[in-house]
Amino acid sequence: MKATAFTVEKIPLIKPGDNIGKIISERTKLEEHDIVIISSTVVSKSENRMRSINNICATEKAKNIALKNGNEPEFVQAVLDESIEVLLEYPFLLVCTKNGSVCVNAGIDRSNVEGSNVLLLPENPDESARKIKDGLFNLTGKKVSVIITDTNGRAFRIGQTGAAVGIAGIKAMRDWRGTCDLFGRILEVKNEGVVDELACFANLLMGEGDGGTPVVVIHGLEMYDESGVISDLFRPENEDVIRKALRSLSA
Ligand code: GDP
Ligand code: MN
Ligand code: MN
Repeated sequence: MKATAFTVEKIPLIKPGDNIGKIISERTKLEEHDIVIISSTVVSKSENRMRSINNICATEKAKNIALKNGNEPEFVQAVLDESIEVLLEYPFLLVCTKNGSVCVNAGIDRSNVEGSNVLLLPENPDESARKIKDGLFNLTGKKVSVIITDTNGRAFRIGQTGAAVGIAGIKAMRDWRGTCDLFGRILEVKNEGVVDELACFANLLMGEGDGGTPVVVIHGLEMYDESGVISDLFRPENEDVIRKALRSLSA
């Protein structure tokens, strides 16, 4: 098997209202079923998901958490405003977002963001991916998959990696269950999180700093599918022993 991956060069600093699909299509030639991987940072900037820390009024709950984890109360408030449940208050703030994803600080970023602003994740990352995908189709006539990524920490391991936060035109998982291994044994649990794997590799090319390369194109993998949604990656609550353990800690 062979696939190629490259960053799209000369992408400007993204501003509210920018058309990400147009910016990509003007800078690279896309082929049918390419996978276009975009950092959530630039999608959020284009959607004006910015909040100024100075305009946030921290509640008592936010102030309490801030005392424990050392964050600014206003930053904690911004995280709480994006969350439906707090799973851990310190040493870091782990929440379940309105979108159903469990992550630190609700994915809110201060790096690669100007001034005293914080940048929220896109409100509905699958919808953002869908819009960029449709825009790219209108501009190029090519059907591509879109994955919006963020850099996340991981449980049990040091070292952050890319993670998919919104998808369109690709399934989240590749299910091997029911197929055979080399020796004819039926696979019972293997259900591969392919969009996270792709996000990891794309993140490696994007970097975390001042590279200015928020878009990666992967060519040569046939993964196009209209039916994917990111929530397929989220472990159902009733099967999530770690979430249960965290809840019992705070109870
Ligand atoms: P995140 O992983 O989505 O939180 O994004 P990062 O802050 O890690 O940035 C990923 C890549 O996108 C890095 O190479 C940044 O330099 C780049 N980047 C972030 N914002 C912009 C922007 O507005 N324009 C350009 N050209 N690159 C950006
Ligand atoms: Mn981020
Ligand atoms: Mn990153």
